Amino acid sequence: MAKPFASSADLGEKRQSLETLAEGVYALTAEGDPNVGAVEGEDFLVCFEALATPVAARAWLARLREHTDKPIRYLVLSHYHAVRVLGASAFGADVIVTHEKTRELIAERGQQDWASEYARMPRLFKEPGSIPGLTWPTATFSDRFTIDLGGDRGDLVLQYCGRGHTEGDLVAWLPRQRILFAGDLVESQAALYTGDAFHRDWASSTLDRVASFGAGTLVGGRGAVARGAREVEAALGQTRDFLAVMLREVSAAGTLKEAYERTHRALEPRYGSWPIFEHCLPFNVSRLWDELHGVERPRVWTAERDREVWDELQP
Ligand SMILES: [Zn+2]
Repeated sequence: MAKPFASSADLGEKRQSLETLAEGVYALTAEGDPNVGAVEGEDFLVCFEALATPVAARAWLARLREHTDKPIRYLVLSHYHAVRVLGASAFGADVIVTHEKTRELIAERGQQDWASEYARMPRLFKEPGSIPGLTWPTATFSDRFTIDLGGDRGDLVLQYCGRGHTEGDLVAWLPRQRILFAGDLVESQAALYTGDAFHRDWASSTLDRVASFGAGTLVGGRGAVARGAREVEAALGQTRDFLAVMLREVSAAGTLKEAYERTHRALEPRYGSWPIFEHCLPFNVSRLWDELHGVERPRVWTAERDREVWDELQP
């Protein structure tokens, strides 16, 4: 029997958990659905990621409002993917911050990505009619952007670590609390999506830079919060291993179909039961095949191309 397309048949609600990681530092995880976070400044809030729709974001904000009523000054978006950014209007933030490449990617392919992600993961798009349009950053940076949290709260540092999950991922780092919000550059017990990735950079220099923070707590793009050096190391190690296996198997394959089959066989024992594994793999292998055959930048995913690749690669 053919597998249902991407995550289109995944309709069961996930349980959301709001965790306080340190005083005024919050993460909302959801059993493998996209994670979000927030950091309190002295008299304002910084929110990290926006979910897929304003209605989905409002449910998160209602939980956050049980802890703090400070106004939202900054909304930080780790990268351009629709399920991270299209809920932005719910935050009413003064400033929306992304990496400069993310702004370019929204202009270049934001509309197509919206249609693609909606078809792949319809459950995440709660009341899709509430999305007013594409989300545009109002502040961008190339290497580092520092937010002074005020009082004696220290800084929140937004850092570009190189090309990885996309061309423009940022991480958010709290040096005082040693907490890292890593976006989709690191996953903790959730499969990686690499359909827009630069695998070789990500698996080497980019992950090295992410690891070099020496985080004591890490919130990945999906999956549980990694607490303590051992769990952080495990999340980084899983991300590295997933990419290394993909690179090894796709490099050794003679055709795209063979690349998919080899990669599936090699990853499945360890990662097959993790969220979105089957959903991601055809898109991942397609992009890595391109990357290893000289296609410098990821081709734009459209709802039509998604179906073609899925039908070609899924058994
Ligand atoms: Zn993403």
